[in-house]
Amino acid sequence: MANKKQDSGFSFYIPIVLIVAFMLGCLSVSLVSVRENVMQITFSGSVSASDVSKNQVNVRKSRVVEDSGLKYRMVSASDLHIRKEAEIKKTDTALNESEEAMTSLTDGLSSADLEEDTHDGGDSSSEPVSSEPVVSEEQEEFHLELPNDHYINFTPHKEGYVAYLTFDDGPSIYTKDILDVLDYYNAKATFFVIYHKEMEDDYKAIVDRGHTIALHTYTHKYDKIYRSETAFFNEIERIQNYIYRLTGTRSRIIRFPGGSSNTVSRHYCEGIMDKLKKSVIARGYTYHDWNVDSCDAEHYNLDPDKLLENVKKDLTKYRKPDILMHDAGESKRTTVEALPMIIEYIYSQGYSMEGLQLDSYAVHHDW
Ligand code: ZN
Repeated sequence: MANKKQDSGFSFYIPIVLIVAFMLGCLSVSLVSVRENVMQITFSGSVSASDVSKNQVNVRKSRVVEDSGLKYRMVSASDLHIRKEAEIKKTDTALNESEEAMTSLTDGLSSADLEEDTHDGGDSSSEPVSSEPVVSEEQEEFHLELPNDHYINFTPHKEGYVAYLTFDDGPSIYTKDILDVLDYYNAKATFFVIYHKEMEDDYKAIVDRGHTIALHTYTHKYDKIYRSETAFFNEIERIQNYIYRLTGTRSRIIRFPGGSSNTVSRHYCEGIMDKLKKSVIARGYTYHDWNVDSCDAEHYNLDPDKLLENVKKDLTKYRKPDILMHDAGESKRTTVEALPMIIEYIYSQGYSMEGLQLDSYAVHHDW
């Protein structure tokens, strides 16, 4: 009797096992197709035929460009170590994370604060909270496009001309896209990060791929961080510990949310910025504002050409431009789209692109 029961139970499970196996097969096929979709990189091209001049360098043929002792290694897209398993998972959760990040950044700010904070290009604090719906179709359609064969204008590097690309408020769903573009152009940048749960791989990716990870406070909530000096350094310590746990590195480079000249913080503690500017230095940190603003925080997804134009407006005024951009998810998708054009423009003006170091020139708004 017992045997009979077992037998019938076993034969009952056979179709279930087959169905599960079939479903697993389907799942793996769809995962592969997702991966292929993401890997499918084509470029609409930021450089037209008319842009190609006598100085042009065929990136693919001249993979290493050497000038004044500096080497520019331009890689083709197929060489990029893009898209690991984590990315596939992220496509499912990306939208939620994006919305969550926006909420965390804007929590605790009154509408008056949102209007008043204009120094950080508004930074995150002035980004619209919910005026525009996030369209999931856009998310799915977005592909970072980098060509295998690509001509860029090449200008010899001008000694002492270093551009610092800085990305605030990340990591985000687009951090790895930004890293891919930077790798492609052999450019290094700085990421002023805050706490984002479930983005842990991205902190490590920033460090592993040779960029500078730096401190932008833990919560980015003005009412918390600017309440007192103690509160601010508590925030710095929290993000420091978080970064250290994920990456094994520490940073002593800070960007104040809203910049050192923000006028929002006074609502929470009069004179706090004057105190903090002195005390961060006294404690062995350095802080960086910016002198070139892409203005990507002004609106959701400003036109990439407009972002490029904003960078062009001020870049060449400085030997060491510090360019403010945001790595803040879906609302900053066009920042990623504009990045190849921005980098090519920066190269065309003879700059190298490096990550900020503790002894790098620091742009301060009150200088
Ligand atoms: Zn910020």
